[in-house]
Amino acid sequence: MRSTMPEFPLTITSIMRHGTGLFGDREVVTYTGDGYRRLPYRDLAHEAARLANALRGLGVDGDQRVATFGWNNAEHLTAYLAVPSMGAVLHTLNIRLFPEQVVYIANHAEDDVVIVDASLVPLLAPILPEMKTVRHVIVSGEADTGALVSAGKDLHDYRTLLDGADDVFDWPDVDERAAAAMCYTSGTTGSPKGVVYSHRSSYLHSMSVCTANAMGLSADDRVLPIVPMFHANAWGLPYAALMAGASLVMPDRFLQAEHLARIIAEERPTVSGAVPTIWGDLLRHARRHGADLSSLRLVPCGGSAVPEALMRALSDEFGVRVVQAWGMTETSPLATVAHGDSWDRRVTQGRLLAGVEGRLVGGGDTVLSCDGVAVGELEVRGSWVTASYHLDEDTSRFHDGWLRTGDVGKLDADGYVTLTDRAKDVIKSGGEWISSVELENALMGHPAVVEAAVIGVPDERWGERPLACVVLDGTAGVAELREFLSAKVARWQLPERWAFVEAVPKTSVGKFAKRVLREMHTRGELTILES
Ligand code: ADP
Repeated sequence: MRSTMPEFPLTITSIMRHGTGLFGDREVVTYTGDGYRRLPYRDLAHEAARLANALRGLGVDGDQRVATFGWNNAEHLTAYLAVPSMGAVLHTLNIRLFPEQVVYIANHAEDDVVIVDASLVPLLAPILPEMKTVRHVIVSGEADTGALVSAGKDLHDYRTLLDGADDVFDWPDVDERAAAAMCYTSGTTGSPKGVVYSHRSSYLHSMSVCTANAMGLSADDRVLPIVPMFHANAWGLPYAALMAGASLVMPDRFLQAEHLARIIAEERPTVSGAVPTIWGDLLRHARRHGADLSSLRLVPCGGSAVPEALMRALSDEFGVRVVQAWGMTETSPLATVAHGDSWDRRVTQGRLLAGVEGRLVGGGDTVLSCDGVAVGELEVRGSWVTASYHLDEDTSRFHDGWLRTGDVGKLDADGYVTLTDRAKDVIKSGGEWISSVELENALMGHPAVVEAAVIGVPDERWGERPLACVVLDGTAGVAELREFLSAKVARWQLPERWAFVEAVPKTSVGKFAKRVLREMHTRGELTILES
């Protein structure tokens, strides 16, 4: 029997209409470094219409890719709404990648237009000539565009272009299955791969973000996405906020702890998402200088394992509830969130959200039981989990309709995922596996340890042994740290190699770049202390 329900399309256009139409008094606030720019959602709707008209005027009349090269601000949000809603495809370029990678990605995606923030013109200028398919560059903000001229592209000023455009747009009916946006994996592993989100997947993901098992957004919230809009869609927070009628507070390019502390104290966001390194910085800043973080009711944190010590410190000292979440560019990205009353639950990567299924796979691709004990690679599937990569024949990451996540860990019967490592970071010592993440988390619980990254290094006897690379703020010797660890992990897992470093190298999105550490070790650039 067929249902009586229509196949009413799930589109970003409808998120935009709902958010800007019914919550016109809500606002997107952009921090400027010394103040704030405010744009009520009712005006955001007109801005989106102007941008769509302007892009149409430049010949964007189909599924052309409109790339963004910018920070979290009102202009980026305008593109988030206008580009997919007009039927084109939003491509958020990651400004922190190596220039060659940005070129590769822009060419692979066949970007047609780039909207660039004025502050990033110097980054774009040297690579623009190599972006073969780009015809138009729209510069947002005051910039010396001289360096862009030689690339031979048509240059436009964002404000002039929009001021000359009609503020009403006849939004087309788009197919919910059509491409809405795309994002490339940041390449912690291998070359970047394109993930293309549909209107439908973005809509369903946004609904999921709004559920209480995820972030429970409502019209009472003010959301501060610190996680960049070029990294896995700022975890879906912008669309979810529009859907919930929540205001958005955008940090623009001011991501240092003192700016973030000021924004939180003044603009009083209730929800804010960022990777653990940002919260670690903010915690240290708040301890030194004091901070009013009292407006925050929920802080989703993820992108890499969230140290338990960080969660406890923010909770005990500042009353901030950090909730760990896990996901990937491939999963839109939200897939699990770790709510729960007990720390046993809160230190996991989280529970699978409705709409995402997970399983564990062991050697020989056998499916393991969800008993919270067996360790294997996590595989996921669902309506916002990609089933292929854009223009890529390589199917090695897909397995009978499931995505191989490359993350290794456990899954329990209640759907809680506990990751022990990324497959390539696991330390294989004498046939046993040592979780680098477990050692790092334990070490980061020591008061003098700011950051700790543990990598596997070759060992004659055991194949591989852990090397702990530690950043200190205060004093602690190897003997003390080893002693501290021995209360937390099995004796055979204790590192006997240690290196004190100034900082742990980070990837473009703020994760520990263990590959770089491994290379530094191979080149003999780390001073190793033996214990
Ligand atoms: P990249 O592969 O470039 O890092 P993503 O930004 O999509 O790209 O990162 C996804 C990966 O980040 C996951 O596969 C996982 O390894 C890691 N990750 C995300 N959240 C967590 C978390 N809460 N705990 C541990 N690892 C996480």
